[in-house]
Amino acid sequence: MSEASASELTCEARLDLRHLPDYMDSIADRLQSFEADASHHGQRIDFRFAFGAASFDMERLVMRANAADRDGLARIKDLLATAVQVYARDENPEIVWTGDLANETRLAQFREMVVKDVRDLTLHMRRIRLAGEDLSRFAKFGGMHIRMLFPTREVPDPLWPILGGNGLPVWPADDRRPVARVYTIRALDVAKGIIDVDFLVHPGDSVGSSWAMQAAPGMKVGIMGPVGRPVRQAEWYVMGADETGLPALARLLETLPAETKGVAFVEIANDGERQEIANATGIELHWLTRDGVPAGEDKLLAEAVRSVAWPQGGSAFGWFAAEATAAKIVRVYWRGMLGLGRDETLAAAYWRRGAAGLMAG
Ligand SMILES: Cc1cc2nc3c(=O)[nH]c(=O)nc-3n(C[C@H](O)[C@H](O)[C@H](O)COP(=O)(O)OP(=O)(O)OC[C@H]3O[C@@H](n4cnc5c(N)ncnc54)[C@H](O)[C@@H]3O)c2cc1C
Repeated sequence: MSEASASELTCEARLDLRHLPDYMDSIADRLQSFEADASHHGQRIDFRFAFGAASFDMERLVMRANAADRDGLARIKDLLATAVQVYARDENPEIVWTGDLANETRLAQFREMVVKDVRDLTLHMRRIRLAGEDLSRFAKFGGMHIRMLFPTREVPDPLWPILGGNGLPVWPADDRRPVARVYTIRALDVAKGIIDVDFLVHPGDSVGSSWAMQAAPGMKVGIMGPVGRPVRQAEWYVMGADETGLPALARLLETLPAETKGVAFVEIANDGERQEIANATGIELHWLTRDGVPAGEDKLLAEAVRSVAWPQGGSAFGWFAAEATAAKIVRVYWRGMLGLGRDETLAAAYWRRGAAGLMAG
């Protein structure tokens, strides 16, 4: 890792892992999907992010991080610690960071937000405006989503998580622990301290949808993020989303460069669920209606996306966000049949029929 300058924040953690080299391919792959450039120097791998740098030294069994500011360092610590926890789980790694921010207990990625406004966009889509302080990090790091922490009937007055010595959140005991669900930042105004989230109000017992149904100005909710990998820049996109992916798809259409081309499909219950989207791109938008078929049972969206021919030249990206079965059909088609790589496609399950809290953990 290049020497940190005097103004930079730096830290390191020993990795008492017998098999660190065995995990390094997976760890490197994960970090690269967060747009890190990797370079190998003998027993050391360096990673350079837009917001700082990291290295894994397999000889000395240590990982290091440096960044220009607290948000950057906290982000890198979180990415490294999460990758180690995920891939070295069998060795039950104990991570203890030393150096800058080592005694910090404030969780950089957490904000308490207050409901400012509630507005129905359609019969089933409710926009909730949240206000909070210091939201600049939610415009950084390329992630479009947040983990929302809700009070529930069982835990009406939750305690929020704090930062642990390993760089990861420490949660309160179950009787005070909020319940998490993943949502998209539909719009963000850092200067005004405002985030808009569009909630699909769906049938059945739920946490996020139930909270949205009774949300009122003044109510408090926690958010953590941003989460999610950056969407790759490309000249051409094929996109597909159901109502849960619609907020992200709409945000992409409103923010990608004007010269971007492609085709996007959105699956909705019926024509009443159409929304105005200020599509700033040359991507053609098509609405598909289920017309009575229950959400998650219709194969229309996956079939529409599969029917689009991949362009021969130029850069292209496939982006899909919907129910798990549809996401799997599209992922298998893109990755398995067309042989496209992870840097060209992202087919994500945003919910699963019959399962609560998918991806919220
Ligand atoms: C990266 C990401 C971004 C997301 N962004 C958004 C967003 O901006 N807006 C949004 O509304 N959702 C979004 N989702 C989807 C949302 O997280 C899930 O729908 C989540 O399950 C909702 O939580 P809940 O508490 O309402 O329902 P849960 O308690 O999780 O589930 C209760 C029951 O409802 C069912 N259910 C869950 N979702 C749906 C649905 N869409 N339609 C029908 N039944 C359902 C479940 O299968 C289960 O049976 C996103 C998910 C991911 C992974």
